Amino acid sequence: MEIHLAPPIVQEGQQLTELRQKVREFIRAGIADATLVPTINSWLGGWNEEFSRSLAAEGWLGMTIPVEFGGRGSTFLQRFVVTQELLAAGAPVSAHWVADRQIGPSLLKFGTDYQKQKLLPGIANGDIFFGIGMSEPDAGSDLASVRTKGVQVEGGWKISGSKVWTSGAHASNYFFALARTAPVDTDHRHAGLSQFIIDLHSPGVDVRPIVSLNGHHHFNEVFLDDVFVPDDMVLGTIGEGWNQVTSELAYERSGPERFLSTLPMLNELLLATRRGDLAPDPELGRYFARIMGLHQVSVSIADSLSRGEEVGTSASIVKVLGTTTEGDIAEFATTVPGAAEGDASLDTLRALGDEALLERAGFTLRGGTNEVLRGVIARGLGLR
Ligand SMILES: Cc1cc2nc3c(=O)[nH]c(=O)nc-3n(C[C@H](O)[C@H](O)[C@H](O)COP(=O)(O)OP(=O)(O)OC[C@H]3O[C@@H](n4cnc5c(N)ncnc54)[C@H](O)[C@@H]3O)c2cc1C
Repeated sequence: MEIHLAPPIVQEGQQLTELRQKVREFIRAGIADATLVPTINSWLGGWNEEFSRSLAAEGWLGMTIPVEFGGRGSTFLQRFVVTQELLAAGAPVSAHWVADRQIGPSLLKFGTDYQKQKLLPGIANGDIFFGIGMSEPDAGSDLASVRTKGVQVEGGWKISGSKVWTSGAHASNYFFALARTAPVDTDHRHAGLSQFIIDLHSPGVDVRPIVSLNGHHHFNEVFLDDVFVPDDMVLGTIGEGWNQVTSELAYERSGPERFLSTLPMLNELLLATRRGDLAPDPELGRYFARIMGLHQVSVSIADSLSRGEEVGTSASIVKVLGTTTEGDIAEFATTVPGAAEGDASLDTLRALGDEALLERAGFTLRGGTNEVLRGVIARGLGLR
């Protein structure tokens, strides 16, 4: 059996290097005029629609969406460079993150021409934002047990049920909801599921906030009470929801957001060490080395995605190793002697550290837990 642990290594050519420089200049200008304030976990907590539109104006949203649908027709590698730089800087990218990362590619793969025309230009402009309606109170890791139900009616479907942990639903225009449209077949639990594009302002949709321990609000519960979804807003094929969702997850698990959520903190630690405010610690180099290794695999996966290749196993490897690294960085940076108390020059580091420790529990959970992903990896390697 042939085993592909990671796709081939990608060399960055001149075009990508120039793009990277351009994004860095944009970031420097943003930091200088305070439109960009670096934060931890900025792709989930940094909701800033104005910033998203400023990226759209540069041509950095909807990059992989074809020009005919309002996008830029760029490659996944070009998108990788842009998103990597923004994440490394802790830029507020969460408003457009889900739409740009996975909804666009899913619409291109499974959507109708009507859906593409209706939604893709708005995604590329930063006018349409999306949430993910997969998890439910009794369906997280075991997603096939979703109980939200779709019943066919004249001209469409009526959807009822409840979703939970729906990041950004209170500020988004739509979400993709996974629902059961045929009774459970115990021999084929993944059959009979379908995806619907639900307008979150439709009658029967009730979005209720869940406030996190740190006082932030990005999570929500979304209650659906006989919400009408017209036939032209069914995504893909009725009954094929499982295969569609699985392909969406490959985009969700392999990107640089899975190892860069705490990089602004590592950067701050490096700066404090260079200033002489902290004693040099060899561990710092080890963390940068881990990040570089993850970068290499993640960028190679982006290249493979451009060719439509299967990346499920390597995407899961990036997510397990990357999210573990993010959490380790949070812990390391807050336990460095001198970082916990002392002079004001370490205030930024301490503030990022406090934030990172509260957020870290979510790193290995969102997008599939590490325990579950280890099972996916084992299967991918033919071990189960
Ligand atoms: C920050 C954050 C943002 C999120 N945003 C969204 C969102 O926008 N939309 C959305 O739909 N969902 C979202 N989620 C939900 C996320 O996808 C689920 O939390 C995740 O899939 C786990 O499901 P659960 O919470 O129901 O835990 P459970 O599935 O109940 O798991 C509980 C524990 O049991 C372990 N476990 C479960 N099954 C197995 C198994 N077979 N083998 C070994 N161990 C197992 C898990 O690893 C975990 O430790 C978000 C979660 C977080 C933390």
